Amino acid sequence: MSKTHFDVIIIGGGPAGLTAGLYCSRANLDTLLIERMILGGQVMTTTKVENFPGFPGGIDGPDLMVRFQEHCMEYGLQTHYGEVEGLEDKDDHKVLTVDGKEYCARAVIVASGAEPRKLGIPGEIELTGRGVSYCATCDGAFFRNVPVAIAGGGDTACEEALFLSRFAGTVYLIHRRDSLRATKVLQDRVMENEKIEIIWNATVERAEGDTRGLKAVELKDTQTGEKRTLEVEGLFVAVGVTPKAEFLADILDRDAEGYLIGTEECHSSMPGVFVAGDVRKKMLKQIATAVGDGAIAAISVEKFLTGI
Ligand code: NAP
Repeated sequence: MSKTHFDVIIIGGGPAGLTAGLYCSRANLDTLLIERMILGGQVMTTTKVENFPGFPGGIDGPDLMVRFQEHCMEYGLQTHYGEVEGLEDKDDHKVLTVDGKEYCARAVIVASGAEPRKLGIPGEIELTGRGVSYCATCDGAFFRNVPVAIAGGGDTACEEALFLSRFAGTVYLIHRRDSLRATKVLQDRVMENEKIEIIWNATVERAEGDTRGLKAVELKDTQTGEKRTLEVEGLFVAVGVTPKAEFLADILDRDAEGYLIGTEECHSSMPGVFVAGDVRKKMLKQIATAVGDGAIAAISVEKFLTGI
């Protein structure tokens, strides 16, 4: 992209960023959305989205995000693929460094989202891509008729277990407590699914395998401390998410977990910089709340730029 000056630059192309992009472009602001990987964010790795209003029966995550993109393009949102490395406050404008090149904007919306948290166990990194995965939708089909394990007890773990039960052999859902965190509707579906076996009060301590792939995981009973080996060819890690805000670590205020702190109007700690979506500290991280943030951040930008 040769142009480098914009009214607004949005960092991140998930539901929050695209919604902000739609609102800003529709308000005739010269808007650039910068995305690191693919437009759509985490929803691109979700099978069926059942709780975004307006789609009775649900909609596949990628299909929903293609609609978001098409809607933005109708209003002329400009997009650029690159990694934002830094953000500097120059009072009347902000300077973003993107892959070594500088871009300027009068206002910035940070909607960089979150990414899957790692377990931090021996073998996890070494076997990633050879049995250890963070995305059942992406990799599930490689595990036809073989036993797999999922670590976690939230919505993601349950959705991944249900998805994997269509391909894999036995699906072991390994949860560190004796009750799931996931919403009731997902819990019920998991409980009713004969291919899913829940292993309660257990953590995955080690991923074991060789150059050909994962062979087993070592489990530890959280109540007795007893260890045992479970033979599986896949380990899907679904233990929550971590915000993608490291690149702003010394620039914007964050909480202890690294989430960016924003006001109800999505103002960050730097005037003219707004925060939206899963990267922002908030109570509920869903597509619907990311969309809400994106809209609020865009309106706050308009108010900031017009001084009203
Ligand atoms: P989450 O809700 O934070 O759940 C993480 C799960 O992993 C919890 O069960 C937690 O156990 C467990 N866990 C965390 N650290 C662990 C560790 N080191 N070892 C073992 N287990 C560990 O994360 P999520 O399921 O990815 O969901 C993230 C957000 O997206 C949530 O707000 C969720 O509601 C939302 N989401 C919504 C949908 C949907 O609406 N359909 C789908 C996916 C995600 P504890 O329960 O003991 O803490």
